[in-house]
Amino acid sequence: MNETMLTPKSVFECFAQVNKVPRPSKREEKMIEFLLEYGKGLGLETRRDETGNVIIRKPATPGMESKPTVVLQSHMDMVCEKNADREFDFDKDAIETYIDGEWMKAKGTTLGADDGIGVAMEMAILADNTLKHGPLECVFTRDEETGLTGAEGMQSDFMTGQYLINLDSEDEGEMFVSCAGGCRTTATFHYEDQPAPSGQFFVSLCIKGLTGGHSGDDIDKKRANANKLLARFLYMEQKKMPVLIADIQAGGLHNAIPREARATIAIPVSMKETIRVDWNLFAADVEEEYRVTEPTMEFLLETADATPTVVDSQTGQRLITALQGVFNGVFAMSQDIALVETSTNLASIHMVPERKTIEINSSQRSSLLSARHNVADTFAAIFQLAGAETETGEGYPGWKPNPDSHLLKVTVAQYKRLFGKEPIVRGIHAGLECGLFSEKYPALDMVSFGPTLRGVHSPDEKLLIPTVQMVWDHLLAILENI
Ligand SMILES: [Zn+2]
Repeated sequence: MNETMLTPKSVFECFAQVNKVPRPSKREEKMIEFLLEYGKGLGLETRRDETGNVIIRKPATPGMESKPTVVLQSHMDMVCEKNADREFDFDKDAIETYIDGEWMKAKGTTLGADDGIGVAMEMAILADNTLKHGPLECVFTRDEETGLTGAEGMQSDFMTGQYLINLDSEDEGEMFVSCAGGCRTTATFHYEDQPAPSGQFFVSLCIKGLTGGHSGDDIDKKRANANKLLARFLYMEQKKMPVLIADIQAGGLHNAIPREARATIAIPVSMKETIRVDWNLFAADVEEEYRVTEPTMEFLLETADATPTVVDSQTGQRLITALQGVFNGVFAMSQDIALVETSTNLASIHMVPERKTIEINSSQRSSLLSARHNVADTFAAIFQLAGAETETGEGYPGWKPNPDSHLLKVTVAQYKRLFGKEPIVRGIHAGLECGLFSEKYPALDMVSFGPTLRGVHSPDEKLLIPTVQMVWDHLLAILENI
């Protein structure tokens, strides 16, 4: 495939324009300006709200005035990741794309098809006066990728449509009808510095090379959580010997399954050999338990430099016990579809000597608000028992499936007519902007789909070119027939 074979031509031309405009999450000023110019340039009613979301309204085409108003919605920001050897300034430089077989990719950076291809489709529809559709509202939200703050900041009178098609899904042929809401829960231990007793052996433990993944979408894939593995070993050893914590730094982003965990501990010199033997046995057990999902796990144990102080023994012991006791992973499956309903992820554990605290971050997800409250309380309660302070954030809402959705009926019927097969109708165990819309616009009938993307949020991001034409045809058929 080469440049001239990219169809629909109008969509790929718009995508090329989008890729010239810098649009990192939370720094979308240039993109907002670009979209405002674009709408005004077409002579269409165009405005932005205080948050920075943009709406461009296009009237119905002749004869279609009685159709209901449909909102088409994509997020304007993109995840900015690049390979270490690629020099690139996401605040200035244009994304450079190339074609590799049936895929479009970017040179050493994220492609930004998440969700730039959705933006491009909307732009192409706005500019094309040969199409048949009722009144349209093309909406471009900002900052989906780092907190859904665009959708969150949107006022409930910004959009007026009855139906909304979100173009931010990544598997052609899959129609999304629900998503999970989420919240974060933190636990904070306050410790005292305790002088390290004499006759201690300091050892640093590291578990790394885990598969990791998204804390929602990948939570049911039986991947190991590095933080839980580390806690499990410390708890086992704590039954045999006093374990004093000199440092603990484990996990990272709140929405990722942790791939790496480290701790430096002090134990009696007499237990030096015992811990080495236990560590090796533990590694062998865990490798067997995760034989399939964690082929590249590494367990490292090294002698460490002694520190003058350690975490007071009572706090350290309570921390280890709570980390062992806290539930992690899939909490409940959905009663309606084969999907995780409720889950929790122990995301990070960080000792912060300046504050004399050990801070634990976690996230909980569910399509049901009450179930999410329950799992967040389950997480918090165990840390409260251990003497930590806990706090659960307000979170963001989920999107419950609507069995009576008219939009879904039209979406499925048009897909079958065009492609001669049933689309997959499913939910996702992660947040979508639709969750926030469902809270602000309770009557809004929504569906989410889009062309196939792989490797999103990484420099391996790629777009399956033929699926753009399929989604385009499907989208136009829905607009014509709703
Ligand atoms: Zn996206």
